[in-house]
Amino acid sequence: MLDVVDIGDRSLDAYRGVAPDEQLDELVRVAQRLRGARILHVNATSYGGGVSEILRACVPLLRDLGLEAEWKIIRGDDAFFQITKRLHNGLQGAPGELSETEKALYLGNAQLNAPHLAEGYDFVVVHDPQPAAIAGLVHHRSSRWIWRCHIDTSHPNPAIWEFLTPYLGAYDAAVFTLESFIPPRFPIRRVAILPPAIDPLSPKNLTLPKELARHILEWIGVRLSRPLVTQVSRFDKWKDPLGVVAAYRLVRQHIPHLQLALVSSMALDDPEAWDIYEKVRAETTDDHLIHVFTNLVGVGNVEVNAFQSLSDVIIQKSLREGFGLVVSEALWKGTPVVAGRVGGIPMQIPPGIGGILVDSVEECADALLHLLRHPQTARTLGASGRERVRQHFLMPRLLLDELLLLEALAVERAASAPTASLQLENEAESRLAGDVGH
Ligand code: UDP
Repeated sequence: MLDVVDIGDRSLDAYRGVAPDEQLDELVRVAQRLRGARILHVNATSYGGGVSEILRACVPLLRDLGLEAEWKIIRGDDAFFQITKRLHNGLQGAPGELSETEKALYLGNAQLNAPHLAEGYDFVVVHDPQPAAIAGLVHHRSSRWIWRCHIDTSHPNPAIWEFLTPYLGAYDAAVFTLESFIPPRFPIRRVAILPPAIDPLSPKNLTLPKELARHILEWIGVRLSRPLVTQVSRFDKWKDPLGVVAAYRLVRQHIPHLQLALVSSMALDDPEAWDIYEKVRAETTDDHLIHVFTNLVGVGNVEVNAFQSLSDVIIQKSLREGFGLVVSEALWKGTPVVAGRVGGIPMQIPPGIGGILVDSVEECADALLHLLRHPQTARTLGASGRERVRQHFLMPRLLLDELLLLEALAVERAASAPTASLQLENEAESRLAGDVGH
């Protein structure tokens, strides 16, 4: 059996006054047309990282909208997750190959998991490379299969890409965050570009009273009488935590009491994180102004919220990034962000809005120093960032985009099989048939 993730109840009504009204109204209309559709989301972990963050909000809201949504996690052992981590890195361009044994292990995992997906769903959305091979192994083909790729696959390592490509041929559609992430010679015909989004009502993103937020950070040892910059990220080489420390040290030459917090959750499917954690500890352990926190010492969503709310500047010095939910999370709290000019980050921080994009340790240090010395500029950038997130990167917008894609797929299916179970309104059919895809 695959593990079903337990999720609470959510109500779309609670988003009135938070997300734009027109998005909510449109979402209700589209969901009405898909009422009763059975949707399964499949990924590799129920906590840690952006995908689980999105599914925790998206699945209960789909249920509230009248769809039968479920979320399942594939099973895998350490050896499997070591391989999928290299697959993930290779898809983002890292060198290396998988041995024949490793390839067999990856496929073997899909063979173990696939039989548990045989029940009838209208749509199965498979997230990222870990479970990607499953689609081709499920014989029950009444579902429409969607591969949702959250990572930057614009320049994949050719050997890794060649290995994964045949498994993708079984999908009806793919979803990427950016057009430029579609790899060369992509085998899936229908592709939609849908940037991810944050849930403004999750414990991580709802507005914390200032006093409570202060109390939370003071409680874990942060001194709020001193300036604070923070990066919230898994320990991952693409998030460049050592680059963050280097930039911070340059800034501290000018602002000696500046504190740095590195906040990281250790995900189940991320074996490399411990190596990087050790490196960061070795680099920072004697420095009492650098705080390193993980979920393992109890730093969770509410603490992350407090860091994102009260830091003077949030850093996201990524070298590769699918989207970078942490950027929108910080901007939503009105906190300016200094971030790597990579992947999905620039669409969250366009020129003059939200923060400053950087390409090196030195630029990162300069931008931090600038914002720390000009608090009014920092506040203005933070405020414009919050409005940008409200318009483009809140969960209702993502749900709307996703449901439009599902509807387009259902229409396509209905056209090829007139007795299909989903009944869609004619008007929607003609509008959507040309809407999504390339
Ligand atoms: N996150 C967290 N605690 C941490 C580190 C990260 O809750 O210590 C969350 C973070 O708030 C965000 C997600 O994990 O919601 C990371 O998503 P992002 O898209 O930034 O990066 P990914 O980890 O998916 O590459």
